[in-house]
Amino acid sequence: MKMNKKISCFLLLMLVFLFVPGCNKKHTHDYEDATCTQPKICTICGQTEGDPLGHTYDNDCDDICNVCGETRIVQHQFIDATCEEPKTCTACGKQEGQALGHLWVDATFEEAKTCSRCGKIEGDDVLTEALKEFIPQDTSTKLDLPSSILGYDVTWTSLDKDVMLDDGVIIASDTKKIAQLQAEIKIDTHTYIKKFKIGVNSIAISKGKYDVAYNYYVTKLSNGLVKDVTLIKREYNGCSVRYLSLDENIITSDGQIKQTTVDQSTIMNIYVIQNGIAVLYPTEVTVLSFTAIQRIELTKVIVDQMIEDFQNGVITTLSTFNDEYGVTINWNSNIPEFFVLEDKVLTPITKTNVRLNCTLRYDEVSNSIEYELENVGGNMTEEEYITELVKYISKIELKGSINHLHKEYNDELFLDYQERINSYGVLNLAMPTSPVVKKEYMVDISRTDFKNKFFGSGTLGTNLKPIVGQNYLNEKFYEGYQMPNSSNVLWITVHESAMTLDGQTAEFLAKVQYRYAFEQNDARAASWNYQVDAYNIYQSFEDNVICWHAGDGTATPGSGNNNGIGIEMCVNQDGNYEGTLANNAKLVASLMLQYNLTLDNVKRHYDFSGKECPSYLIRTGRWEEFVEMVRKEYLIQKYLAGATIEYQLSTDTYQTTDEVLNNLFIEGGNGLWYNKPVSVETEVDFVIHVTKNGKKYTASSTIMLLPDEN
Ligand SMILES: [Zn+2]
Ligand SMILES: [Zn+2]
Ligand SMILES: [Zn+2]
Ligand SMILES: [Zn+2]
Ligand SMILES: [Zn+2]
Repeated sequence: MKMNKKISCFLLLMLVFLFVPGCNKKHTHDYEDATCTQPKICTICGQTEGDPLGHTYDNDCDDICNVCGETRIVQHQFIDATCEEPKTCTACGKQEGQALGHLWVDATFEEAKTCSRCGKIEGDDVLTEALKEFIPQDTSTKLDLPSSILGYDVTWTSLDKDVMLDDGVIIASDTKKIAQLQAEIKIDTHTYIKKFKIGVNSIAISKGKYDVAYNYYVTKLSNGLVKDVTLIKREYNGCSVRYLSLDENIITSDGQIKQTTVDQSTIMNIYVIQNGIAVLYPTEVTVLSFTAIQRIELTKVIVDQMIEDFQNGVITTLSTFNDEYGVTINWNSNIPEFFVLEDKVLTPITKTNVRLNCTLRYDEVSNSIEYELENVGGNMTEEEYITELVKYISKIELKGSINHLHKEYNDELFLDYQERINSYGVLNLAMPTSPVVKKEYMVDISRTDFKNKFFGSGTLGTNLKPIVGQNYLNEKFYEGYQMPNSSNVLWITVHESAMTLDGQTAEFLAKVQYRYAFEQNDARAASWNYQVDAYNIYQSFEDNVICWHAGDGTATPGSGNNNGIGIEMCVNQDGNYEGTLANNAKLVASLMLQYNLTLDNVKRHYDFSGKECPSYLIRTGRWEEFVEMVRKEYLIQKYLAGATIEYQLSTDTYQTTDEVLNNLFIEGGNGLWYNKPVSVETEVDFVIHVTKNGKKYTASSTIMLLPDEN
């Protein structure tokens, strides 16, 4: 029953569908083509499809439709006439009227013929036009370049010096190359530059003849240069030559060199030329850094200025090293109080004239300059001066030395070189007093058994230092110089004994003098007032007694023998040379103070007779260093006189000064201590306390004890 009900519903729906009323019978559209103004349309039902085609024109200016012939009104889009084109429509190309024609402006030196309206250019500027007659596109021979054009001078420059030279000489090459050539023409105040390109063809030449000439020309440049070179310019082997430096800051093409503090190299092009064809030899040239002498000369100029600035108060320090040239600058003034330290200059407490000696040193070369400084000082109090001095005393560097000797004539030993080591340097626990002078072997020349021949061939008839004439003093010092003491001590003359054997100590030398003075009959034409080693100072003769040591005889009052105090420094190999210098510095300083002398009065044996003595000091260039040691001792003995000085030394291991000294040092004479070798680096804390006139001065430092190598 249910099934039947569904079927009857379906049938009902079918009937409803069949009886819906309909208008048209179904047909296939029959379209008529679209036209300019009408779309595609069905002729049966009138239904349209798409859009009308629209009119068809050739361009924006076409006024008749190509399809339907309908007309329209149009307007051309004209642009103005130009020099070369008449008025023209941009749309259809229609032209009206005539082109305007160019407004030519004549060519000038700078510009080619040019239309002032459109900028069109024809040809070249006047100069280029004239010059290009001489410039071929390619060449295999030297160009014939004019030296003037249109009555004006022309300077030619090749911008490619490996292809062509300025005068058109071409450079042989096995490939074709392009050269740019530049002409420079000065007309009135203006310079015109014109450039041309030329192809230089490959050229096969035989180089043999060129090579021979090159080997001749290059000789002047083959070694490192330290001065200007006169380059060889003359013809050789049928060839001429040109030079071109590729770095004029190192060497100019004329051979002038510009040295600096480093070696510099550049290439010098050497062109060997024959028949207008050059062979290029790029040649490496080295300009060496300044020589020692040059560095010193250059530093001298700086030092001159420095002194001027110092005198004018512009600067208050004098440098001890020139960084630019690596030159060491040592200052020695005759007035001990004028003292150049690393970071300041100590000047005398009262204004004084100072003669300042400046020694410039580079490697083994040195040169000295003397400056006269007027009215220096007067700007430090004594307390300020002592403060600086105490600071200076606290700066201690321990350096010993080993003197390596060799035999010269007569089997005498001479210093070959001095090796500086870390052991056996000098710790100077400076004392505010004169050093101890031992007098056990003093020679009393008033004894009747004194052997006078000991003095060589003395001619003055006296054994005591003579009065010196004013002329001599004027000549040696300055006009009006007065003998500074009543003992006629004018000089302190420093020697080295040249006695290098073990045991040839100050005591040994003193005994020798004593023996010759009283016991031995054989002549000994040598004597001296003092002998010094690292441990002792022995005096043999009173200071006012003439000794025979300076090599300048006794004929003239004022000579080193007559008026000098002779001091022999021992060089026995089992001694300590550094200690001897330090000990002697104390003696010399005390004699300066005793006899009112300056450092002008302290001389080497060499200064009187040219003998190489004191030999080690001269051979090592350390004389100025010794003078500075004397200066320091002088200042200590003078300015710390009456003061108490205490030293505090300690290390990690040793707490007291005595422990440090006794364990790490060997005692020398007069407050000198020499550091024993150590196996590990050891720091010694060092403090100096000075009390003078109730005022305390303290300075401290760290002294390094360093092991020696091997
Ligand atoms: Zn239709
Ligand atoms: Zn149309
Ligand atoms: Zn048009
Ligand atoms: Zn134009
Ligand atoms: Zn000597």
